Amino acid sequence: MNQPVNPARRRLIAAASLTILPATLPAAFARAPLAGSQVISVHRMKLGDFEVTAMLDGFIDIPPAVLQADPDMVKALLAAGGWPAGPMRLPVNTFLVNTGEKLVLLDAGGAKMLGPTAGRLPQCLAAAGIEPGQIDEVYITHMHGDHLHGTVTPEGGRMFPNAILRIAKADMDYWANPAEEARAPDNQKPRFIPAKRAVAAYGERIRPFALGEQLTPGIRSVEAVGHTPGHSCYMVQSGTARLLAIGDTMHVAPVQFPRPEITVAFDWDQSKARATRQSIFDTVAKEGIPIAAVHLPFPGIGRLRRNGDAFVFDPAPWQLF
Ligand SMILES: [Zn+2]
Repeated sequence: MNQPVNPARRRLIAAASLTILPATLPAAFARAPLAGSQVISVHRMKLGDFEVTAMLDGFIDIPPAVLQADPDMVKALLAAGGWPAGPMRLPVNTFLVNTGEKLVLLDAGGAKMLGPTAGRLPQCLAAAGIEPGQIDEVYITHMHGDHLHGTVTPEGGRMFPNAILRIAKADMDYWANPAEEARAPDNQKPRFIPAKRAVAAYGERIRPFALGEQLTPGIRSVEAVGHTPGHSCYMVQSGTARLLAIGDTMHVAPVQFPRPEITVAFDWDQSKARATRQSIFDTVAKEGIPIAAVHLPFPGIGRLRRNGDAFVFDPAPWQLF
């Protein structure tokens, strides 16, 4: 309800306004030059006494044909998820864990080796106030380019000069093995390049581990073989707070949450990849463990809920601390 204002008071208000407002009003504040570029995406959360910083390295576009299912079904699932019929835009997230004792990077993105749409990890680290030389350890979920290329500079040096690189022995035995490369069909040979570059840059600094091993207090490997021979998830735990970094346990949210049995063409072992995804989805949903996913929309952190044979992803709420 409007209160009537008496004329004397109205004059007083008018006089006060005149002393504040300049004679000519400025142009509308909303008019500003267009930025013309995207901003760097960094998101931080607390996990017990740890801090986890999600960083968006970029994205890759892949054709729906990589999904190993009836194309019409894939089309319908993508449409139901509000995605275009193709190509599918997959984010590439990386996660930095500060345990208070160590800075551990989980996967390193694809650098510019994936083209101009990736390779923002160094800018993300700068935005987070971290120098590459401060990273103590880098844990790789598997040796595909969109996870490993980011450890190596364009000139072939170490992006993280003081870091040791931890990779499951089973993945090293496959991807860093000239005999496996020789056996691979010609169109698959380029997939061995990331491993060769990482081995050349890090040499003895690569410390292979057995799947399931505790790598540092608060971070343990979780066997998740199928996408590659040595694909490893990482359980990050501080007190009772847990977060499972799932690497490439899944790729395409609107397809593999409703139909987790659907694999992708670049899964090394289709049936193992399928079984691993179903088992990990089942466990995290049952135990309420949040996941951090490389290929979910940034920051890729949230919980899975079971809905019959399907799963639903609930993004984690933003934290203020
Ligand atoms: Zn990937």
